[in-house]
Amino acid sequence: MRPETKCIEAGYTPKNGEPRMIPIVQSTTFKYDTSADMGKLFDLEAEGYFYTRLQNPTNDYVAKKITALEGGAAGMLTSSGQAANFYAVFNLAGAGDHVVVSTSIYGGTFNLFNVTMRRMGVDFTFVDPDCSDDELEAAFKPNTKAVFGETIANPALIVFDIERFANAAHAHGVPLIVDNTFATPINCRPFEWGADIVTHSTTKYMDGHDATVGGAIIDSGKFDWMANADKFPGLCTPDDSYHGITYAEKFGKEGAYITKATAQLMRDLGSIPSPMNCYLLNLGLESLAVRMQRHCENAQKVAEFLDADPRVEYVTYPGLKGDKYYERAQKYMPNGTCGVISFGVKGGRSAAEEFMKHLKLAIIATHVADAHTCVLHPASSTHRQMTDEELMAGGVRPDMVRLSVGIENVEDIIDDLKQALDNI
Ligand SMILES: *Cc1c(COP(=O)(O)O)cnc(C)c1O
Repeated sequence: MRPETKCIEAGYTPKNGEPRMIPIVQSTTFKYDTSADMGKLFDLEAEGYFYTRLQNPTNDYVAKKITALEGGAAGMLTSSGQAANFYAVFNLAGAGDHVVVSTSIYGGTFNLFNVTMRRMGVDFTFVDPDCSDDELEAAFKPNTKAVFGETIANPALIVFDIERFANAAHAHGVPLIVDNTFATPINCRPFEWGADIVTHSTTKYMDGHDATVGGAIIDSGKFDWMANADKFPGLCTPDDSYHGITYAEKFGKEGAYITKATAQLMRDLGSIPSPMNCYLLNLGLESLAVRMQRHCENAQKVAEFLDADPRVEYVTYPGLKGDKYYERAQKYMPNGTCGVISFGVKGGRSAAEEFMKHLKLAIIATHVADAHTCVLHPASSTHRQMTDEELMAGGVRPDMVRLSVGIENVEDIIDDLKQALDNI
């Protein structure tokens, strides 16, 4: 199936007489005939459901759809994108371990790594996504367990060179994790470029309607944990909390990573989305392909409008010819990038705030990547915890406005921007 078809059909196929839409299994528990049957589930000897803190059928239908869209082997949903990125990294790296991370990532992920996970004893080295080969090489340490980047960085809109970072990670015997939230698998499938694990904030385009917060982790099933067993004891040595199961032996390359994340992290930390939220996410996924196409068409026109307006200082959009990342975007995302544009109006930080005050259609919201056009000033909101130096290192100028172009009629969006510029 092609991506547009997978959006509709993948993950759940009703049998004769069964409901067409995925059933919402709103149940915490599942009934078994004997304790022995249930015991097999607790030993990971049989597949099945016993408690919704770990797994639920509704969630798994939707996880399967996203896994199919990414071309992966196994996947799971989490209750937020933050939980997805935390689990994705913590499943491989604990206290005493180290991770190489692109500087150009979502502010929330930066805090998660640089503050909260450091407190847990995980060390991080942040590298410029456009650093030299020597700088990238120097970032690795003997205890490095993974490399992490974002396909299109939120909000800097820097396009990540997935192939290059995958090669570097593999040369050091570790996987590349890519947060593919902004591109979505409609526009980019990181596994095709060597990434090993993909994460999503499904809150953004996948849900697409401001309805549900959620996340996803998808494993390509290609990384050979056993070939690097010394680095990944959590996957390649017995787990005492499951009677000595070794994930990489029992579940192989295709199943080890997601089984461990479900059986250990979801069991112990419990960031599971509700079945109802997964049902709503599935509705969003059904129209993802058509929405992404419209988001990209609209954003392209809006970026060209802004670029031609003398009152605008700069426009960053990887679909714009002349953008620093245009060529790289053509390689990884030939059909379009995303609906998010960042730009600055002449007059700096205060002009940006003044401009935003005059917008009528575009609302000011701490959100991005959904049907409604919205704007945000990252330096005073999502990236508030970062110093100006950290902001610049992440590609976020203090005067930058992030505009998430929705799927309204593009002429209405442009009219709104025009009148706000007139009113500064
Ligand atoms: C929003 C976002 C996150 C965090 O996701 P939540 O669902 O808000 O927890 C992570 N990565 C990227 C790229 C995001 O845009």
